[in-house]
Amino acid sequence: KPKPWVIGNWKMNPETPMAQQQLTQQLIDQIIHDPASDMGATTLNLAVAPTFLHLLMVQQQLQQAKSPVQVVAQDVSRFAGTGAYTGDVSAQLLASAGITITLIGHSERRSLYAEGAVVLREKLQAAVKAGLDIVFCIGETLSEREAGQAEQVVLQQIAEVFDSVSLQDWQQHLIIAYEPVWAIGTGKTASPDDAESMHAAIRTGLKKYHPSLVDVPILYGGSVKPDNAASLAACANINGALVGGASLDAGSFIKIAQAF
Ligand code: 13P
Repeated sequence: KPKPWVIGNWKMNPETPMAQQQLTQQLIDQIIHDPASDMGATTLNLAVAPTFLHLLMVQQQLQQAKSPVQVVAQDVSRFAGTGAYTGDVSAQLLASAGITITLIGHSERRSLYAEGAVVLREKLQAAVKAGLDIVFCIGETLSEREAGQAEQVVLQQIAEVFDSVSLQDWQQHLIIAYEPVWAIGTGKTASPDDAESMHAAIRTGLKKYHPSLVDVPILYGGSVKPDNAASLAACANINGALVGGASLDAGSFIKIAQAF
């Protein structure tokens, strides 16, 4: 099994710089950097994704405390380098600030900002060009699931971007996060069986591109909480979690991390 990832996606939260610092400090205080423990960086990749506004502040705080928790950008510009792209942050700017990972294709970006294959391909290309690792998010809506199309939709979301980056990039820089849209922020989690069967289908799909892609980590996201984390973590093809709401509470986030 690939080394698990547990990533807290803070989305557009919490409200004040003080609250950002407090949440970060709680993580620092509660996660002991002990190589012998599962919460050290040796057996688990732990990360949080604050807003662009707070990314460096949180990163600095974590680094000063020598915390193993990494920081992840929630999104990245489709444009590479620097230039006249008001409001955007490029992969190169992230990399030059020491940020090494970004989410791409979160369902909120897909639905609220109409990001589709064309944009996501450009974002993937921009990110790999800057050497970033990528958590590429996929997932079906409720109506797609009810129509029996969940697997097809999810595999298509991979297919439509697959050749935008190289096989080597897939091997070295890509992580998949399966987040069924109907499970995000709703309190409804995919059952471990449903999640596992989708993760297995994604892994089989990836292996068809190249056998080496069997090792691409596949994370689950969508209402992951302390009380369902262990049953998800027990699934053979679930390699971690992308946690929204529950990551805003340090104690809950750590309980989820411990389950992996
Ligand atoms: P919730 O954990 O709040 O359902 O959010 C999941 C998510 O979208 C993480 O990226």
